[in-house]
Amino acid sequence: MGAREARRAEILDGRSIAEQIKHEVAQEVRRLRVEQGIKPRLCAVLVGDDDASAVYVRTKVRACAEVGIESEQLALPDSTTNKDLLAVVRKLNEHVDVDGILVQLPLPEQIDEASVLEAVDPAKDVDGFHPTNVGLLAMGRPRFVPCTPAGIIELLERNKIEIAGANACVVGRSQIVGRPVASLLLQRHATVTICHSRTRDLPSVTRQADILVAAIGRAAFVRRDFIKPGATVIDVGINKITDAAEARALFGDEAEKRIEAIARRGYTLVGDVHPAEADLVAGKRTPVPGGVGLLTVAMLMRNTLQAAKRRRGI
Ligand code: NAP
Repeated sequence: MGAREARRAEILDGRSIAEQIKHEVAQEVRRLRVEQGIKPRLCAVLVGDDDASAVYVRTKVRACAEVGIESEQLALPDSTTNKDLLAVVRKLNEHVDVDGILVQLPLPEQIDEASVLEAVDPAKDVDGFHPTNVGLLAMGRPRFVPCTPAGIIELLERNKIEIAGANACVVGRSQIVGRPVASLLLQRHATVTICHSRTRDLPSVTRQADILVAAIGRAAFVRRDFIKPGATVIDVGINKITDAAEARALFGDEAEKRIEAIARRGYTLVGDVHPAEADLVAGKRTPVPGGVGLLTVAMLMRNTLQAAKRRRGI
């Protein structure tokens, strides 16, 4: 890489937008409490002892405290049966004070995930995973939108990145990211292509994209030749890397900081996009960490507020 190539894509900061959204939610939560005595409440259900899931739930509970949403966490043992979990969900559905129900995924293997997500009252489905909410989104009439895709749209819109008419390419077709973000982009009049593991000559497809969303789950998979010059690249991936030499190749100017993180805690995070290479071609890109991930939690707060209002016809 010559000195001439030291071009750097503009970094789209997820933190400031997440803070803005949380600030807006906090103001509305306060207004509801003062003017109408309403206290939005989220209940997070954590099954088993997966460390990453426990961290995610803690982050969500902390965000609730920041914006004034009441929250509780139900921690159930790893041995919880499908029947027991369904009973817990049904109880929360009936609980008048609970506005939002979140069942942290993944669930232990004895649990039938689909049956649990379908058991959540669609009116309290702040993750947007219930088939009713998935269907409404697919029909272009979104009600509760999954948080990560909703956050991606906020990030694009608040950075004034034009979606209408743009070629948007989403790599990944999962229920939680790829499919819903493609629906949202389509609803905003992008020309949307969805790619996956069977896509032929992936770089030739992604290179057409003005907006490229990578939701794959493979560290630094999207290289320079995948990216159209000047494109906006949204990196959804969260992958751990533990090798200092790999970090040096991936992070350019930031490499020392990342290598230091590996030495300190054993890993650093990288997305699905190769950051140093993307910087040479992309117009804008989201960082990992500090990009889409922060928006996800902010959108959960907004969905919970929305649930509290909708349930009361506000
Ligand atoms: P997922 O369910 O594993 O889906 C991955 C998708 O990538 C699948 O559709 C798969 O295609 C596709 N894919 C895999 N290998 C590919 C290849 N070689 N070429 C093209 N496509 C390929 O993952 P996910 O839940 O959507 O998550 C994706 C990433 O986002 C993960 O790193 C996850 O940790 C991260 N994530 C982040 C947030 C956040 O808040 N920032 C939220 C959710 C997820 P097939 O369908 O053909 O298998």
